Amino acid sequence: MKAFVLLHTEAGALPKAALEALGAACGLGLPFSVGILGQGAAAAADAVATCGATGFAVVDAPEVAQPRYASDAAAAAALIQSAGAEVVIAPQTSRFARCLPGVAARLGMAVDTHIVSLAAQDGAVKAQRWFYRQRILSSFSRAAHPWMLLVDSGVNAPWQGAAGAAQAQAVAVDFGESRTTVTGVQSPAADAQTIRPEAALLFVAGAGWTKKQRDGQFHIGRAGGIIQTFLAAAKASLGSSKSLVDLKSEGQETLGFMSHMNQVGQTGSTPRHLKGLSTCCHGEEPHAVGWRFITERRAINLDPNCGWAQGKADVVYVGDAFEIMEKVNALLQS
Ligand SMILES: Cc1cc2nc3c(=O)[nH]c(=O)nc-3n(C[C@H](O)[C@H](O)[C@H](O)COP(=O)(O)OP(=O)(O)OC[C@H]3O[C@@H](n4cnc5c(N)ncnc54)[C@H](O)[C@@H]3O)c2cc1C
Repeated sequence: MKAFVLLHTEAGALPKAALEALGAACGLGLPFSVGILGQGAAAAADAVATCGATGFAVVDAPEVAQPRYASDAAAAAALIQSAGAEVVIAPQTSRFARCLPGVAARLGMAVDTHIVSLAAQDGAVKAQRWFYRQRILSSFSRAAHPWMLLVDSGVNAPWQGAAGAAQAQAVAVDFGESRTTVTGVQSPAADAQTIRPEAALLFVAGAGWTKKQRDGQFHIGRAGGIIQTFLAAAKASLGSSKSLVDLKSEGQETLGFMSHMNQVGQTGSTPRHLKGLSTCCHGEEPHAVGWRFITERRAINLDPNCGWAQGKADVVYVGDAFEIMEKVNALLQS
């Protein structure tokens, strides 16, 4: 069985997620070739030239300099067809998650997304992915080939090795007429970006920050200051409970820098971080299920019977999160 590793560049080089997918493919022990699309694809192939691939193919046309469904789908389809492999492995980046399921349908391939583990067994590829909001881990294989697998980021070690001369073959692509023009990128300022998947620590704020405190008053401005000071000092990623982000849509005063994108849980995200600190959040099951991939969990809550204390956290600090986090911030700044 032959595999094909399909990658794309980002700002002219392979992103970490691409190197992780390559690392996963190398671990299979199957013969494989590599295809790369995007600006600087040939140089990116040279950067991974010693990965053990039997060959390299690239699409470095101006049409794929920017992510765009139509041109990315055309380039990916041409690369996959040039390889003729039974299994295609690609990183689950937003660029590929958008176009590759469409490519699979176009080429009559089976496709599975969010793969967290790959292994070769008895001549077949075995994959694992989570179902039902990370509650059920399934191991499976498919008889249908060709089979495309999009590998989640953060679960495989990135491939590391020396650069070399990949002598990549340029693949010709018929892009057809494009009706979509990329006119620019709009993104928040770096310090306004609170979701940081690469951060070691996830800091979760719950609705308690916006509730009346012991003096009978709301302290929302103080809460916002404490949280933002901590995020800046610890370079942590910011998560939220559903109750906190729902306050905005209910017209209540809340933390302006928080949105539904921060929500962790059953109807939110399931981020991967080494450590997590929950503050003013009760730790109910629909929230805590989003902590599945947080290795070490701690929580600060006034209530010694909160959900975190029911076996959901490694350490629970029973205390006032305002006071505790102000002390933590002072320590971080001293
Ligand atoms: C179908 C469904 C899906 C859901 N999906 C999600 C989801 O994806 N994510 C999610 O988060 N929720 C989800 N929920 C809601 C979830 O069940 C809880 O209602 C929600 O997580 C509660 O948020 P909270 O803990 O921030 O707020 P609360 O329950 O109001 O808890 C606030 C906590 O703050 C503490 N507190 C207050 N002041 C302080 C202080 N000064 N210091 C320390 N602690 C303090 C209180 O003791 C309390 O424990 C879902 C519910 C349903 C039914």
